[in-house]
Amino acid sequence: VRHIAVLTSGGDAPGMNAAIRAVVRKSVYHGLKVSGIRHGYAGLIAGEIEELDVGSVADIIQRGGTKLYTARCPEFQTSEGQEKAVEMLRQHHIDGLVVIGGDGSFRGARALSHRGVRTIGVPGTIDNDLPCTDYTIGFDTAINTAIDAIDKIRDTATSHERTFVIEVMGRNAGDIAMIAGLAGGAESILIPEAPFNMEQVLEKLERGMERGKRHSIILVAEGVGKGMKIGEQIAQRTGWEVRVIVLGHLQRGGSPTAFDRALASRMGAMAVDLLIRGETSKMVGIRGTKLIATDIDEALDTAHEIDLSIYELAGVLSI
Ligand code: ATP
Repeated sequence: VRHIAVLTSGGDAPGMNAAIRAVVRKSVYHGLKVSGIRHGYAGLIAGEIEELDVGSVADIIQRGGTKLYTARCPEFQTSEGQEKAVEMLRQHHIDGLVVIGGDGSFRGARALSHRGVRTIGVPGTIDNDLPCTDYTIGFDTAINTAIDAIDKIRDTATSHERTFVIEVMGRNAGDIAMIAGLAGGAESILIPEAPFNMEQVLEKLERGMERGKRHSIILVAEGVGKGMKIGEQIAQRTGWEVRVIVLGHLQRGGSPTAFDRALASRMGAMAVDLLIRGETSKMVGIRGTKLIATDIDEALDTAHEIDLSIYELAGVLSI
C-alpha cells in the first residue's frame, strides 16, 4: 500500500479525531501518502479528498466531533454510487481506505472491498452496539457524560423528592443505559435486551419510596421506547410528579476521555498496520486489553451482545 485515505461516516463520536490523527501519523511514520475524505461516503463520491500531513492533525486529539465531518449517504448504497467511489479512489491513486463508523459504515466498507479496494473498519459510535469488540470509540465518553447528567439530576431530584426518567441513546443497544445506570446508581434501568414488566418496575419504585427513598431515577434506553411515555405511565399509576429528561445529542459531544483517546489512537494505528500487511475487509476491535482484527463479514453476521450479569447486578445494588 502506498496511499491511504481515511473517512468518518454515520453518527459522530468523541474520539474519532484521535483515530484520524493516528491513521495520519502512523501512515506518515511508515512513509506512506495519506489523505482525508470529508463528509463520509458522500464526500468520497464527490471527490472531497485532500492530502493530510503531520501538522494537519495537530491539536485535535482532545476535540469531540470529527474534523473530517460525517454524513449519511443513500447514494452509496447503490451500485452506481459505489462505482463512482471506486473510480474516485482510483483517480487519486488511493490503494487503502480506513472507515471510522458504525455498522452501516462497515456495510459500505465491505461493499468497497468486494470491489477490490483494500478497506479496514474502525468502530466509532457512542452506542457500543457492534459485535467483535468490547468497546467502540466514543462509548466511554458518552457514559461519562451520562453519569455527569445523572449526578446533577440526582441533586435536584433529592431536593424536590421527585421521580426522574432519563432517556439515553444507544439505538437498539442497552449498553449506555446499563453502564451509566450502574455507575450512576439509577433505581431502575430499562434496556431492550432484558424484558421488563412495568408493573414490577412500579412496585419496586413504590417499595423504595415506602422505605424512605427521597428520589427515584429511571434510566431508559432509547431502544425501549420514549422516556416521555414511560414517565406518563409512572405518573398515572403513582400520582407522583414525574420529570422526563432526554439527554439526546449531549451524549455525542464533548472532549473524549483518556480511555477513548487511547483506544482510538491504538485502533487507528492498527488499521494502518493491517493495510500495510495487505489485509482487507477487516474490522479492528478490542478484547480485554488486546486489539484484534475480525472479518467484516463475520462481524456483520454476528449479533451484538451485552453482559446481562451487569444488568442483574445493577438491579441487586439498587434494591
Ligand atoms: P451510527 O450507528 O453511529 O449512526 P452507522 O455507520 O451505522 O453509524 P449509518 O447511517 O447506518 O451509520 O451508515 C452510514 C453510511 O454508510 C450510510 O449513509 C451509507 O452511505 C453507508 N451504508 C450503510 N449501509 C450500507 C450498505 N448496506 N451498503 C453500502 N453502504 C452502506
